[in-house]
Parts: sequence; structure tokens; C-alpha cells
Amino acid sequence: MKIGVLAVQGDVREHLSALERLGASPLPVLKPEHLAGLSGIVLPGGESTAIWRLMQANGLAGALKAELEGGLPAFGTCAGMVLLAKEITNWPERFLAVLDIAVERNATGRQVESFETVLPVDGLGEVPAVFIRAPLVRRVGEGVEVLARWQGNPVLVRQGPFLAASFHPELVEDARLHSFFLEMCRKG
Ligand code: GLN
Repeated sequence: MKIGVLAVQGDVREHLSALERLGASPLPVLKPEHLAGLSGIVLPGGESTAIWRLMQANGLAGALKAELEGGLPAFGTCAGMVLLAKEITNWPERFLAVLDIAVERNATGRQVESFETVLPVDGLGEVPAVFIRAPLVRRVGEGVEVLARWQGNPVLVRQGPFLAASFHPELVEDARLHSFFLEMCRKG
């Protein structure tokens, strides 16, 4: 199964290696042509505004949005969640805008306030989670499933083919969330 990892900026290598360990064939996505034949795409953590500017420059932004609107499964982590969100409460733009949530960017504070914790995830049990300048979900639309919360805030959500985490599953050994996403991609 060909799974893309948006590779313009951020935690690209860590996602590629987690997917490889699980037996998928991950491919870095840098240009619109790289979207051909994918069964799913991971949008990594990094800086959503920088990722978006770089994607707009070569047409990848529009091409990826069209694929997602056509049902391509996507897993956004941290900045990737911000890219997927339909609403950003503290930023004037929105990016891919396909997942019906409102997020607040950088809601867990500055880089130095990063932390690791363990979260109970629906259906998976306890999963380690690293939060770095993480977005928190302030509103979930109808049809959005909340799979995990931190301090009452949704931090792992799913709506149809879209999965989004406020945290960084690519920075821990535990690959169950990647595996959960691959299962979503398999089912199409
Ligand atoms: N604060 C970043 C953003 O809004 C996300 C941080 C991260 O991905 N670690 O894009």
C-alpha cells in the first residue's frame, strides 16, 4: 500500500520510518505528481504556515485539497491537524479545511513547555503522546468522533477518512496510531 508523507517541512523522516516498520510503502510527497496512486497521506508536525506557503508555491496545496475532497484518507499530526481543520480560532487563514473542527494553534504554550504524557485512546488503550506547541480542538462538528482527550480537550479526532492528533505519534516507538491509520486506508 502506497502511503504518502507530505515532505515540504517538519517530522517527515520519523513518519516514513514508522510506516516502513509497519510494512507500508511510504513515499515523500513534494509535488502534485507525487499524489498519484496513494492510498493515504500523512501530514506531519512542523509549522503549518510554512508548510502551507511552500505547498502553495508549487500547486501542491490545491492538488492535495482536491484529493482529500475526493476521499483520500489523511492523518494529520500537530501542524498536520491545523492544516486539516476547517476553522482556526486564533489565525486569520484556513488551509486544507476538510475536517470539521475548530483548533486553537499553539494552545499548549511555547516550545519549552513541551511535554509527554499517556492518553487513553478509544479502542487502543493507553498511548504515549508528545505535545509540542500543540493545537487543541475547541469545537468538533457533527460526525466528528473524539478518540482521546487531554484535560478534557479533544486531542485525537476522526471524521470519515480523516484522522487528526494534536500530538506527535511519530516521536514515540509505539506505532499503534499509524497502524490504526493504515487500517483506515486499507478499508478505503
Ligand atoms: N504550532 C505549530 C503550528 O501551528 C504546530 C507545532 C508542531 O507541529 N509541533 O503549525
